[in-house]
Amino acid sequence: MPAPALPPKPATGAATSPSRPSGDREVAAPSSVTPAFLPLTRPTIDEETIAGVTEVLRSGWITSGPRVKEFEAKLSEYCGGRPVRAFNSGTCTMEIALRIAGIGPGDEVITTPLSWVATSNVVLDVGARPVFVDIDPVTRNIDLNLVEAAITPATRAIIPVDLSGLPVDRDFLHAMAHKYKLRVIEDAAQSFGSTWKGKRIGAFGDFVSFSFHANKNITTIEGGCLVLNDEREAKLAEQYRLQGVVRSGHDGMEVELVGGKFNLTDVAARVGLGQLPHLEEFTAKRRELARAYFERLGAPAVRALGLRLPVADFTHSNWHMFQVVLPEERLAIKRAGVMAELHAAGIGTGVHYPAIHRFALYRRLGWNEGDFPHAEYAGRNILTLPLFPAMTTGDVGRVAEALTAVLKEHSKP
Ligand SMILES: *Cc1c(COP(=O)(O)O)cnc(C)c1O
Repeated sequence: MPAPALPPKPATGAATSPSRPSGDREVAAPSSVTPAFLPLTRPTIDEETIAGVTEVLRSGWITSGPRVKEFEAKLSEYCGGRPVRAFNSGTCTMEIALRIAGIGPGDEVITTPLSWVATSNVVLDVGARPVFVDIDPVTRNIDLNLVEAAITPATRAIIPVDLSGLPVDRDFLHAMAHKYKLRVIEDAAQSFGSTWKGKRIGAFGDFVSFSFHANKNITTIEGGCLVLNDEREAKLAEQYRLQGVVRSGHDGMEVELVGGKFNLTDVAARVGLGQLPHLEEFTAKRRELARAYFERLGAPAVRALGLRLPVADFTHSNWHMFQVVLPEERLAIKRAGVMAELHAAGIGTGVHYPAIHRFALYRRLGWNEGDFPHAEYAGRNILTLPLFPAMTTGDVGRVAEALTAVLKEHSKP
């Protein structure tokens, strides 16, 4: 399995003692006023949830059981009553959606090259071929205007990704899917809590896949769910989830298809049940922090350095991440250098993501440098700044100040 999507900085052990360059005036400051290391992200789990997990552990039923059913019911309610099934990752939900849609060898699936590699790996997993379409450099999501030209008689589906929680235009997407009879598997791993024109992501459309990985807006530690269209699909999802098994009566068991081992545990589901009531508050806090980033990084003196900010959307996005794109042509250092300096200043950052088609596996499958210039530029220069509900606007100020200082210091004359 691929590594987690948003790996926290190695051991937030660095949390208490970030290495600082000598000459940094904070080195001389008494340790009591040295700000703690600010990680890229961190889950917020309340005491009631921790107590609830303890209760599940003591209950005698710790794997898939009543808590998973309860979690699925709550998720279904959130998604306007659509059928929802929970799984042990977001990745497997997309693979299962492809299988339910009957997509396999000989089929093509259109997706974005700027995503967590899971998005296209699942297409390879079912034996189909991913077809990448470049991103819109402003939204950083798949450029839907370019999709039509990529459709062939073999195209069966499209997997759009709501990068950082900013939804892909659902009207355009579903109109095109309808016109070309394509299945849609929304990779909404990052957009739980986002909306499209007042409707919740997940409450409409075709398949919708969410991830509840530790760094997503709500978590089950590892986990995910799939929103489906009807009970027939939900039944298939249950079969693919656990070895293809169908049980009946007291002792009946049948197996008709090759399933996997993708069931969520009750322990994990209990974490999710404790997260759901906080969703609105988490989203509101993320929006507040994103606004603070815009205030600081949107200042003319900072804009003049060439930093590219995300779309200032406060209607649809759940602000899963705040991502800037560094001005490669104007900087004397590369992204890794910027990250190292921010780390030395006690600030964690991340990369989401390198362009998928530049990975060795995908190069071997035939993709080349230059195929998707916007995704490649973003892949080299995109930088995720800290953003999580337990952060303060003061932390945002600190990040903005440190980033601005690094950019100023290394701007080409
Ligand atoms: C997190 C993520 C996934 C995969 O989710 P897992 O739960 O880690 O399997 C897929 N796509 C995107 C865009 C993600 O961010």
